[in-house]
Amino acid sequence: MNILLLGSGGREHALAWKMAASPLVEKLYCAPGNAGIAQEAECVALDPADHAAVIAFCKDKKIDLVMVGPEAPLCAGIVDDLEAAGIKAFGPTRAAAQLEGSKGFTKDICRAYNIPTAAYERFTAPQPTKDYVRRQGAPIVVKADGLAAGKGVVVAETIEQAEAAIDMMFDGGLGSAGAEVVVEEFLVGEEASFFALCDGTTAVPLASAQDHKRVFDNDQGPNTGGMGAYSPAPVMTDEMTQRTMREIIEPTLRAMAAMGAPYKGVLFAGLMITKDGPKLIEYNVRFGDPETQVLMLRMMSDIVPALMAAHDGMLKNFDLRWYPDAALTVVMAAKGYPGDYQKGTLIEGLDDAAKVEGVQIFHAGTKSADGKILANGGRVLNVCAIGRTVAEAQKQAYAAVDLIRWPEGFCRRDIGRRAVERGA
Ligand code: AMP
Repeated sequence: MNILLLGSGGREHALAWKMAASPLVEKLYCAPGNAGIAQEAECVALDPADHAAVIAFCKDKKIDLVMVGPEAPLCAGIVDDLEAAGIKAFGPTRAAAQLEGSKGFTKDICRAYNIPTAAYERFTAPQPTKDYVRRQGAPIVVKADGLAAGKGVVVAETIEQAEAAIDMMFDGGLGSAGAEVVVEEFLVGEEASFFALCDGTTAVPLASAQDHKRVFDNDQGPNTGGMGAYSPAPVMTDEMTQRTMREIIEPTLRAMAAMGAPYKGVLFAGLMITKDGPKLIEYNVRFGDPETQVLMLRMMSDIVPALMAAHDGMLKNFDLRWYPDAALTVVMAAKGYPGDYQKGTLIEGLDDAAKVEGVQIFHAGTKSADGKILANGGRVLNVCAIGRTVAEAQKQAYAAVDLIRWPEGFCRRDIGRRAVERGA
């Protein structure tokens, strides 16, 4: 098969690495890719937002499957356009991608199908929103309805913080994403990332993971796209996985099919494991970043037949196999991230780091120039390792981190600590 992967981050490097290992793959392209992905795939300068150009490329190169990494092209309907042109594409249609594109849409499905989630209301004007917040009291969570690149959620400790968030969103601080606002109950528990492969009617659970969203050790500082992750998540016991499938994922698939927008692709549920069981915080309509990096290390099965089975509606008797080992990834970011940071700084020592046992390094934001690797983004490298336990994977990943010479970069030193303290 000829496959085109869309995206340029660590998630896409991990997917490229896994797909390139498949005996079914003849030629793998990635648009636009990065310096690490270039080791697995031929990177092409195509803009995923230019659907006509992507279609023309697919026809020219006889692409058998397009794998879409990030959410923006999915919400923009790239799967609809590719399929209309007769090209197979993995991921939800624009209508089904509303599960990520509109928080209110997802909350209404939860209400209609009794899916456990935080209590909520939807608003289109500031005053009724503030009235509701005052009646509910703090802490309370204010969310922009639309896609806001991870900036659309404010967990307000006080009424004043909630009101400031409401004003910011309705004043256009997040563009059109904040034209509608969802206010929801503050949930208490432990978070987990849960992934399921879906074919429209059937869902197959993938492994679970936990990520670290805050930029500094001990969960200090602002939220980021994710500073590290590990898999499996100890909180996702078999019972919790079964409940999540039965109470959250399966009713969502029924709801989407009933409204004529069957969900195909990877469904990524952000969960809060509360004392009453799993509750849905939000859906994402694609693989997580950096969770995918640890999932790909643990996946024993060939991923390509799994993607094809999901696309073709054939997951009913499909089985995926996983290594029992744990995997962990440490994100190395440019100093200043998630605020302003420098690009173009030199990274050395990657070859030595990659030789540490069990280690795999994925590039999240790099470019190559004259045979040198330069930083080219906020999150730059994912230093991953596999081990019998989370503790072992953590030890190997940090051993590799310590061999990387990049003075302008930084990472958290406590990825996986909670799991390690639990003996995982
Ligand atoms: P989201 O972008 O919806 O995943 O939200 C970002 C983060 O905000 C989540 O990972 C949680 O840590 C937190 N969060 C979102 N909704 C809630 C909620 N209802 N209760 C508590 N924390 C929440």
